[in-house]
Amino acid sequence: MEYRKVGKWGLKISELGFGTWLTFGPQLDVDTSKKIIREAFKNGINFFDTTEAYQGGMAEYILSQSLKEFRREDLVVSTKIFWGGSGPNDTGLSRKHLVEGLRNSLKRLEMEYVDIVYCHRPDPTVPMEEVVMGMDYLIRSGMALYWGTSEWSAAEIEEAHKVCREWKCIEPIVEQPQYNMLKRDRVEKEYLPIYEKYGMGLTTFSPLASGILTGKYNAGIPKGSRLDLFPDLKKRFEEDGRFSKERIEKVKSLEKIAKSLNVKLSQLAIAWVLKNDHVSSVLLGVSNIDQFKENLAAAEIKNKITDDIMKEIDRIVL
Ligand code: NDP
Repeated sequence: MEYRKVGKWGLKISELGFGTWLTFGPQLDVDTSKKIIREAFKNGINFFDTTEAYQGGMAEYILSQSLKEFRREDLVVSTKIFWGGSGPNDTGLSRKHLVEGLRNSLKRLEMEYVDIVYCHRPDPTVPMEEVVMGMDYLIRSGMALYWGTSEWSAAEIEEAHKVCREWKCIEPIVEQPQYNMLKRDRVEKEYLPIYEKYGMGLTTFSPLASGILTGKYNAGIPKGSRLDLFPDLKKRFEEDGRFSKERIEKVKSLEKIAKSLNVKLSQLAIAWVLKNDHVSSVLLGVSNIDQFKENLAAAEIKNKITDDIMKEIDRIVL
């Protein structure tokens, strides 16, 4: 397993990270999560990602039970604050919710601090000064070591850095965007000015587009799969075209490339994300240990993806 710096900063994280969205709770209980996390740790994964929002905090609790057996210094744990409940101050990036949200996350995680706390989304209803000072406070009070953003626009990230410099606050070091062969623009175009200017890294999510890039949806929705178990997500995917016939045709063509390299499409898709030097870590999501083992091998096949293969992939997906 390779370890990459988060942008220009000192923190080093495994190039494959481990995520908990939709899986921890509905699909994986404490015992199965423990087994997969043991396997992840044994294979060099040190980066574990969760949020206050996943399964109403259940994911943080299951993660805490699974990480207990490891030395805290060997782990890089991140959580995200934004969706904390239904009360008027339970969501968003007000100073009140940032502080209370992270306090509650730390209780569920049974930890004194997280390594990275993210603003899970931008919050246009709160002045950037309040957000930046709130994040600065979380770090200076010892509840987090670094902060980042998730799914912010380049303009919002620029504004955050500008305010940090004006107010002498600690700057964000990382953004967490969606990035996969079917969703590329933000990472490859919009963020270009911010990588060098601010030395930010990326911890990217949904490398398999929720499983579409495994080929498992090529002939419909298999029973027990994510889009079968979570109908709201399926509806969203159908509405925004993520699950369109045209996309599935692209996936079928990508499958042929994977076959020619003697790898699984899931491995090709994850390794493809790792080819981007701005990516510090690719967050994996798995609902069983076999998927984990299959996806883990992606790190070893990066070299199979030559420039010609990259061009071939571009020809299919762009
Ligand atoms: P993926 O796009 O990789 O989707 C993961 C899902 O795909 C699995 O749960 C499983 O679903 C299916 N899958 C994975 N591997 C295989 C395989 N080898 N064969 C067949 N099916 C497979 O990642 P996620 O969308 O889960 O994102 C990864 C992590 O990123 C999350 O856990 C979370 O921590 C983070 N994230 C952050 C977000 C943010 O807003 N910042 C948003 C979303 C995720 P199944 O078996 O049920 O079909």
